Amino acid sequence: MGRTDYLDKLNDKQREAAMNTEGPLLILAGAGSGKTGTMTCRIAYLIRELGVHPYNILAVTFTNKAAKEMRDRVQELIGEGVSMWLLTFHSACLRILRYHAELLGYGRDFTVYDPTDQKAVVKRICKDRGIDTKKYPPNYFLSRISHCKEQRVSPGEYSRITGGDYIDRMIGEVYGKYEEVLRKNNAMDFDDLLLKTVELFEKEEEVLLKYRNRFKYIMVDEYQDTNMIQYRFVKLLADARDEQGNPRRNICVVGDDDQCIYQWRGADIRNILEFEKDFPGAKVVKLEQNYRSTANILAAAHSVIEHNRGRKGKKLWTDAGDGSRITYFRADDEREEAGYIASEINRIGGDYKNFAILYRTNAQSRTFEEALSKREIPYRVLGGLRYYDRKEIKDIMCYMRLVQNRADDLALVRIINEPKRGIGGRTIEKLQNKAADTGQSLFDVLLDGETISQLSSKAEEGIKSFAGIIESYGAEKENMRLSDLYDGLLINSGYLKALEVQNTIEAQSRIENLMEFKSVICDYEEEDPNMGLAEFMERIALLADVDNHDSEENAVVLMTLHSAKGLEFPYVFMPGMEDGLFPGWKAFDRPDGLEEERRLCYVGITRAKERLWMTGAVMRTLYGKTDYTRESVFLRELDSRLIEGDGIYEKKVIQTAGAFSDGAAADRPFKPFDLLRYAQQQTKKKVAAMEQAAGESFQRGDRVVHEKFGEGIVQEVEGKVIRVEFADGTKKLALGFANIRKL
Ligand code: ATP
Ligand code: MG
Repeated sequence: MGRTDYLDKLNDKQREAAMNTEGPLLILAGAGSGKTGTMTCRIAYLIRELGVHPYNILAVTFTNKAAKEMRDRVQELIGEGVSMWLLTFHSACLRILRYHAELLGYGRDFTVYDPTDQKAVVKRICKDRGIDTKKYPPNYFLSRISHCKEQRVSPGEYSRITGGDYIDRMIGEVYGKYEEVLRKNNAMDFDDLLLKTVELFEKEEEVLLKYRNRFKYIMVDEYQDTNMIQYRFVKLLADARDEQGNPRRNICVVGDDDQCIYQWRGADIRNILEFEKDFPGAKVVKLEQNYRSTANILAAAHSVIEHNRGRKGKKLWTDAGDGSRITYFRADDEREEAGYIASEINRIGGDYKNFAILYRTNAQSRTFEEALSKREIPYRVLGGLRYYDRKEIKDIMCYMRLVQNRADDLALVRIINEPKRGIGGRTIEKLQNKAADTGQSLFDVLLDGETISQLSSKAEEGIKSFAGIIESYGAEKENMRLSDLYDGLLINSGYLKALEVQNTIEAQSRIENLMEFKSVICDYEEEDPNMGLAEFMERIALLADVDNHDSEENAVVLMTLHSAKGLEFPYVFMPGMEDGLFPGWKAFDRPDGLEEERRLCYVGITRAKERLWMTGAVMRTLYGKTDYTRESVFLRELDSRLIEGDGIYEKKVIQTAGAFSDGAAADRPFKPFDLLRYAQQQTKKKVAAMEQAAGESFQRGDRVVHEKFGEGIVQEVEGKVIRVEFADGTKKLALGFANIRKL
């Protein structure tokens, strides 16, 4: 490659940006316009043409994957290995702190605490203060603490701001103590890395000057998603002066206000919108040509994002051809939707890695995984686990396995202390030894009062409650509907509750997955209302065990829209285009909520290079609840001339303008509501109703109706057990577990 070949490949605007190396520079441009590419060339230009030492450059991005990609590209352009600071925010800060931690009162060899360590610290603190971690689990405190750190709120300030509420006082105290412990242990958490670096710069002018001098050129990709502390970090470094005392702000930020999708995590879109104010004299380069997508895909993206009000208007053009129009397919239900996508992938053919399925929530992945497995299409779930590999799904399946088969020691060990019941590793070991000695199953050991009474009283109590649950459901499993059994286990085991109190994004996503598991059960129940636990477990085990996935090289990619930022694929599917799913129901709560979802939609559409499919379902079972849906507001906004039907499902594809008045639910007023919370409530209500029935007094001759067996007449009542005659025979039912009502 000739010396400046790489510059020749850029368009005029891109080249202008790449060669504009002095002073503040904002590259504000839409998706696929080559922002990241331009930044990469700019680094190469600085090093190769201007002779800037790589040591003097700092380039930051958001993810390790993006950083690695950029490093590879720079090396390709320069033709040799360079060691330069091309890092994520966190790793840049870590490097800085390694040198200067002492100035902040830390030892140089400070430890970075990961979430497990953090949890252990908070647990200890709670124990010392007698805080009930069942009610307030460590993660609950940690999410609050992290939030505080992002906002730079100290423990003292927290207590002052929030006032005297008991819980807030408790959080403030734990936060304060947590900081103390980390200090004492010479440790920092992830939030500290950014926070402490900014503190260091603010406190130690000399250090700041050192880095200002070193980093003569600073670059930030995806600047629209920076939060307050990241902004502060960048700003402190960039406000430099040269030897003559003139401002020297060689900072180049790259981003797209239309792609800010992390406001819910504290990203502040103002950082990019006010760049010119922050850095007077900033040059702004707008890239207008899109090189990624066909004209139709681009037009579709514009027609949606145009509905946002708070944006700097900009429009991209492309000299790529129109390409295909966007295919919209509205399936009857989510299974047909997934089947359609899988069959389209087979129909188009070619490399599987050219296809991406980008969904709004992780819980949606299951139906696609099943449809793809069924057709033996290899797939890879990016940035997340396959549905049946997720911890919460494995856990709940172990509960069901144990209910089904008490001798399943493996399942038992996995869940005996999940949620926490005070049964530690050593206790489990003791029980296992006992089982080995006597040849009993672990569960039998749990029922052995003598062995159990030798344990700590906490463990004893935990084991009794755990064994009680498994025993009761084991005895009743034949008499319960699968979904009742599932709900009962979720509630009575305390598993759902433990997640609810955590109140973190992770916990929320776990709850989503658990509620989604109910959809699986409902599907099977619909197929066969009498499906037993054993048969169900067998069918699921087969599904969970398919081995044609996870091939790294050539597989369809499944991921959330959020994690697709910055990436591109020839063929993109966006499923679940329904109000309440995408945009999610939360979007309707806040005025800017819908705008953020719309930006996410823009991000999704603009990942596609050649073809884009949008799909939805007339009827969707989500979190175990089946309902008619309404087409996404984004579909209604999308210029309908860009939409067409094609392929095998043509008859169903909506083809013309105004078509979105179609659909069973279109005429009904749409009330977005929190489906997830609704599902949780229903689950609890059902279990409460079963328990309430236990308190009722049944008498011989009462007419009752049972969820599974239908109507019947009570024959006999014996304490908590009643015998009822149903159409297909007499059943013994345990009150408290039977989903039964008097008529
Ligand atoms: P996003 O907003 O999604 O992060 P971006 O603006 O960073 O996108 P890039 O990822 O840098 O865009 O580039 C998008 C695509 O366009 C890439 O495939 C890149 O190779 C191609 N591209 C960029 N500039 C040019 C150019 N001047 N000529 C040909 N192709 C280009
Ligand atoms: Mg980019």
